[in-house]
Amino acid sequence: MSTATTGPALAPVKRNQRPIKPDAYLDSADSQAKARAALGEITAGSAVGEYLGLEMEGERVGTLRFACELPGYVGWTWAVTMARVPRARHATVSETELLPGEDALLSPHWVPWADRLRPGDLGPGDTLPHIADDERLEPGYVATGDADADRLAIWELGLGRPRVLSPEGRSEAATRWYRGASGPGAPDAVASAAKCSTCGFVTQLAGSWRTLFGVCANQWSPRDGSVVSYDHGCGAHSESDVARRSVQWPSNKPMIDDSSIAPLDLGWAKESDHFEAEDR
Ligand code: SF4
Repeated sequence: MSTATTGPALAPVKRNQRPIKPDAYLDSADSQAKARAALGEITAGSAVGEYLGLEMEGERVGTLRFACELPGYVGWTWAVTMARVPRARHATVSETELLPGEDALLSPHWVPWADRLRPGDLGPGDTLPHIADDERLEPGYVATGDADADRLAIWELGLGRPRVLSPEGRSEAATRWYRGASGPGAPDAVASAAKCSTCGFVTQLAGSWRTLFGVCANQWSPRDGSVVSYDHGCGAHSESDVARRSVQWPSNKPMIDDSSIAPLDLGWAKESDHFEAEDR
């Protein structure tokens, strides 16, 4: 016996396109009792509800259906497939299953984690699966068999990486950067008066990207350490020249009320000191 929690609903098997006659022995009270007993071996008896009927699978083979009373299994049914040999008046249990009906509550279709990952999901210690046919990459250098040429290419010119960016990978990255927070459409670039192309803090990339992108090396910029397009820009541009404003609060002269003078009692001062002070 087996218990299945997923899979398609049982479909009637039509042999030779002939209608299969209902089997009174399979549908009998004795068969139903045997089916309930078999289900009792794999689940609590209270999980099995009312008898829903017999579905013929073939000659002398049928599936008895029972309602499922398990919490959370709305629309599921217990299925007990039974069969009998010719001229026998009793059936035996072939298998038991829990099967979803048309309106059954099912879990979402499972998607492998590698397909669910999105940029930004990778955390410290995580490792991405190796993609052998990643279209963003292509072979870096194919050894020629000439030891001298290969040593020069692989070790001296640094082409020893198994794969390097393909034109597709290069184009994808450039498009992503240009349309993202480092491109000309980013809010700080739109608000900026000067572009990265004239900023002393931009350093050029190597290769063909150097015509369009550089790396910002200004700790005051929100893009410090990031690739920026030359038509990006920010308020930390090296040549920005915003006049420093004076303090916003007005500087009024102190007001002194000299209409009446009240002598201070300093306590520790001698009386003579007091008069001397008044004379002054
Ligand atoms: S400081 Fe601003 S303008 Fe200069 S390179 Fe960085 S992002 Fe561009």
